[in-house]
Amino acid sequence: MDHLKNLGHIKRGERSLARQRSRLTAIYSFVGAVIVCVVLLASWRIVRSQSTVVPAGQRRLSEVTLTWRCPQGHEFEDIGSAARLKCPHCEKLSDMTADYVCPQHGDIPASIRMRRDESGRARLDRVSFRPGVWRPVRNVVSCPDCGSALRPKQEGRLALQESDAVTP
Ligand SMILES: [Zn+2]
Ligand SMILES: [Zn+2]
Repeated sequence: MDHLKNLGHIKRGERSLARQRSRLTAIYSFVGAVIVCVVLLASWRIVRSQSTVVPAGQRRLSEVTLTWRCPQGHEFEDIGSAARLKCPHCEKLSDMTADYVCPQHGDIPASIRMRRDESGRARLDRVSFRPGVWRPVRNVVSCPDCGSALRPKQEGRLALQESDAVTP
């Protein structure tokens, strides 16, 4: 009788061991699935960031849709253009906006104006960090606060340096 009881104990023990094992298997496969998801997400982000960062020199200004801002502060979306566009709200000449990043100050929104160079390509001419205050761009766009060279914020939006000639 006793040994039968013992057998019952053993069986129950085996059963709970099997349950533990299957729980472990479930945890392992869940962790595995999470790792696979993380890897997929990371590689998707790399592919995505590579595909949206088109070198400015190879990109037509007219292929990019940007936010434009007029002197009165109206904003509208339109394709990039070396020439200034009229604001659809007040008819005033407007400027393209661009996003830069300062290594010390983070995101720095700006307005930009273009000029045509000798070859007919568009180049960054002037940049504004405050409404109505424009500064000429020589080689690099620098931070209005610390003078550090700003880099374009890489999110598919246009943020040029003077050296980037783009096709209008
Ligand atoms: Zn306006
Ligand atoms: Zn700065």
